[in-house]
Amino acid sequence: MNATERIKAFRSYLGSQGLKLTTQRDAIAKVLFTSEGEHLSLPELLERAQKIRSGIGYATVYRTMRLLVDGGFASEHQFGDGQTRYEPADDTKHHDHLICVRCGKVVEFEDPVIEARQDAIAAQNGFEVVAHRLEIYVRCLQGCEDKDNPA
Ligand SMILES: [Zn+2]
Ligand SMILES: [Zn+2]
Repeated sequence: MNATERIKAFRSYLGSQGLKLTTQRDAIAKVLFTSEGEHLSLPELLERAQKIRSGIGYATVYRTMRLLVDGGFASEHQFGDGQTRYEPADDTKHHDHLICVRCGKVVEFEDPVIEARQDAIAAQNGFEVVAHRLEIYVRCLQGCEDKDNPA
């Protein structure tokens, strides 16, 4: 699904839940759905949403992100920097993450061998994989700036 289709799906989800589609919720959903690969935190989502629709507050962003997660439109991650980060959820596409512990850079990858190994390990133990989350914590080889202690 592209961003426009996702917005439409979110709008009908709100309707089905008896929730109002507000321009604020719409702006926040738009920011999320156009942030593929970015893994935005709440303050970052807030900043972008305010550019589309001024007057949006932190609480509205927080509550709208809950709706998006509960409805299966967003997945949330904790990458070890104390921030919850969000990305558009897509049932048909799965990826895992590499996270730099110094600069916080996040890279997405998918490896068929790792995926297959997980299925095999689950099967060996009498399970079927329903979902998984793989986060590999790394350090940039090229050198990067420590986000907690900028030079
Ligand atoms: Zn991701
Ligand atoms: Zn780095």
